[in-house]
Amino acid sequence: MNQRFSSYIAGQWVEGDGGRPNENPADLDTPVGQYGVIDAAHTAQAVDAASAAAPKWGLSNPQQRADILDAIGTEILARKQELGRLLAQEEGKTLAESIGEAGRAGQIFKFFAGEALRIPGEKLASTRPGVDVEITREPVGTVGIIAPWNFPLAIPAWKIAPALAYGNTVVFKPAEIVPGCAWAIAEILSRAGLPEGVFNMVLGSGRVVGQAMIEHKGLDALTFTGSVPTGHALLKQAAARALKVQMEMGGKNPLVVLADADLDQAVECAVNGAYYSTGQRCTASSRLIVEASVHDEFAARMQARMAKIRVGDPLEQGVDIGPAASKAQLDTNLSYIKAGHEDGGELLAGGEQVEWKTRGHFLAPTLFAAKPSDRIAREEIFGPVAALLRADDYEHALAMANDTEFGLCAGICTTSLKHASHFKRHAQAGMVMVNLPTAGVDPHVPFGGRKASSYGPREQGRYAVEFYTTVKTAYTLA
Ligand code: NAD
Repeated sequence: MNQRFSSYIAGQWVEGDGGRPNENPADLDTPVGQYGVIDAAHTAQAVDAASAAAPKWGLSNPQQRADILDAIGTEILARKQELGRLLAQEEGKTLAESIGEAGRAGQIFKFFAGEALRIPGEKLASTRPGVDVEITREPVGTVGIIAPWNFPLAIPAWKIAPALAYGNTVVFKPAEIVPGCAWAIAEILSRAGLPEGVFNMVLGSGRVVGQAMIEHKGLDALTFTGSVPTGHALLKQAAARALKVQMEMGGKNPLVVLADADLDQAVECAVNGAYYSTGQRCTASSRLIVEASVHDEFAARMQARMAKIRVGDPLEQGVDIGPAASKAQLDTNLSYIKAGHEDGGELLAGGEQVEWKTRGHFLAPTLFAAKPSDRIAREEIFGPVAALLRADDYEHALAMANDTEFGLCAGICTTSLKHASHFKRHAQAGMVMVNLPTAGVDPHVPFGGRKASSYGPREQGRYAVEFYTTVKTAYTLA
C-alpha cells in the first residue's frame, strides 16, 4: 500500500503541503503511505467551518445523529480486519490487538448512537410556589480533539462519537505518526451523511496545527490525550482564554502482587500489562510491586515467561509484541534502559534491540529489579520496560503504589478479599484492577485518572456527557 492521506475540511479533502512518508515502524524501507500537512490558515478554516455548522447541528434531530453514528459503527465493525491491518502497519501493534482496537472503535460509535437518544435532564419542584425548574443539557459547540498515536482508532472514536452524539461539531487533530488511521476515520465519516463542516480532520504538527486550533476563538472546548508536558502546556493556554478542557495524560501504573496471589495469574497480568502493545499504553503496568516473600519466585517466573515472548513484525502470526512506534520512542526506551543501569538496577530480562528480517524499531521486553527512587520506577517511559520493586508487606506495597505523581490505574493480584477491598478503596487512581492487567478496559464505563494523569471530566460511557454538554437551568411560573 502506498496511499496519500490528506486533511478533511468543510466537506472537502485538502492535500496540504509536501508528501511526508508515513512510516511503518516494523519495516522502515516500506512506508505505509504519504501525507500532506496543512498550515495555520487551513486549520482556521476548519474551526470556522465547525463553528458555522454548530448552531444547526446542535438543534438536529437526535434520531438523525443516532442513525449516522450507528452506520459509522456498522461500517467500522464490518471493516475491522482491514482497518486493523492499517493500524498494525502504521503504529506497530500486533494484528490481533489492532483488529480488537478497530472493533472497539466500532462499538464506541454504536454506544454513543444510543446515547444520542438518551440525553439526560431533570425536572424539579422549585422552592417558590407555582414555579417549575428544568435542567437540560445542550451541546458545548465546537470541540477540538487532540489525540496521541498509541490508540489511533479507539481514542479518536471515544472523543468524536460523544462529541457528535451530543450535538457538537468537531475539529480532530491526530498525532503526526498516525495519519493513515485518522484519514480512514475521516473517509468513513465523510460518507456518513454529516452536514458540511460538522466533522473536520486536520493533519500536521502540534506546534502549527494544534496551536492554531487552540488559539482560534471559534473553539468552545478542547479534549486532549497525550503526554503530561504537552497537556500541562495546553492547560495553561486553555485557562488563559477560559476554554473548557478535558485532559488524559500519562501514567506510571503499579501492579501489586501479594504473597497470597495465584502467581501464574499474576505473571500473566504483569506480562500483558507491562509489555503488550509494546508497553505503549497509558495504563501499562510499569511498576511491579511484589511482596518480599514471593519476590524472587515471581522474578524467576517472569524471566521464564518473558523468554517465550516473540518480538517482530506485528502482521506475522505468532508475534506477541511489535516494534516501538517511532525512532523517538525507541530512543526514549533505550535512554531509560541506560538510566536503569546507571541507577544501580539489576537487569533481569531484555535490555537490547532485536534483529528482525526487516529494519524496524524492535526492542526486547525489559525487566529491571529496581528501587522506588530509580528513574525507571518514577518516570513514564511508554515502552516495554518495567521496574520490579520489593515490598515488605501489603501496607508497604500500597504506600509504594501511591507514591507517584500519576494516578491513572492501579492493579493488585491477591486471593484476599480483605486486601482487594482495601486496595480498591485506598489506591489513588481513577481505575483499579483486581487480578486483571492494569491495561484493558470496557468501552461503556468511565475512563480516566487522578493527580497528574487527568484533568477535567471523565471520558467514555455515560460520564462523557459531562464534558460534551453544558447544563441549562430554566424556571417557569405556570
Ligand atoms: P504528545 O503529548 O507528544 O502528543 C499528543 C498530541 O498533542 C499529538 O497530537 C501532538 O501533535 C499534539 N501536540 C504536541 N504539541 C502540541 C502543541 N504545542 N500544541 C497543540 N498540540 C500539540 O503525546 P504522544 O507521544 O502522542 O502520546 C503518548 C502520551 O499519551 C503518553 O504520555 C501516554 O501516557 C499518553 N496517553 C494517555 C492516555 C490516557 O487516556 N490517559 C491514553 C493514551 C495515551
